[in-house]
Amino acid sequence: MRQDFVANVSHELKTPVAAIQALVETILDDPDMSGQTRERFLRKTRNQSLRLSSIVSDLLTLSRMESEEGVTRETVDLRDTVAVPAEEAIPTAEVKKIRLHIRVPDRPMWTTGDMEGLCLVTSNLVGNALKYTPNEGEVTVSLSQQGHQALLEVEDSGIGIEARHLDRIFERFYRVDTARSREMGGTGLGLSIVKRVVLAHNGTVSVESIPGRGSTFRVLLPVPGNLPPQVSRSSAA
Ligand code: ADP
Repeated sequence: MRQDFVANVSHELKTPVAAIQALVETILDDPDMSGQTRERFLRKTRNQSLRLSSIVSDLLTLSRMESEEGVTRETVDLRDTVAVPAEEAIPTAEVKKIRLHIRVPDRPMWTTGDMEGLCLVTSNLVGNALKYTPNEGEVTVSLSQQGHQALLEVEDSGIGIEARHLDRIFERFYRVDTARSREMGGTGLGLSIVKRVVLAHNGTVSVESIPGRGSTFRVLLPVPGNLPPQVSRSSAA
């Protein structure tokens, strides 16, 4: 598995690097190129370098979440890890005229966890829901309490996922449609990050989907109770 992963990473990194090299060489080899063409090539070069940096940053996140010491344990109100990243997606939803509903409870849902990692769970799921939902669709993000667990649901009215892919989409670099995912700036690592973070918090993640109708991703995380956190303050006498 490790060998496969190294081979996949190398391939994923080589693709944008090769594209950048080819684009830069084309520009260098043709000093008479029109300004318009040069700009087009430079934009492509920028897109490929952005892709490269997304892959590297996703790989670093994965590797941090895989090591015990990498996962921080702070007192977190889960509403912040849901509402804040979901609200950051509002402009993207607006561009696509997607109705984005964000529902969180009135009361805090305290737990101990990695704030950054938990925010990534929401931002990756909401980002995907918006990516794979056509214009004028609907996405609902909701957080609720289910006994001693917190339930995060991200439901979309998008393209859906065929049953044969459902087990595999949480694997690193697995995409249903590679060209489409790349075109949309996907790294193929988003859901593997979601899974890693959720496992690091002793939770579970699942998906239900109907092709052509939409998908619902569900994350269950243990929450110790609704008690306010123990805030330790040292008072200088
Ligand atoms: P990517 O960067 O390609 O979006 P992910 O790991 O986030 O990578 O997702 C893996 C694949 O799962 C995607 O390429 C896509 O095919 C599928 N997928 C993820 N979320 C959704 C969704 N909400 N609707 C339809 N397909 C999805």
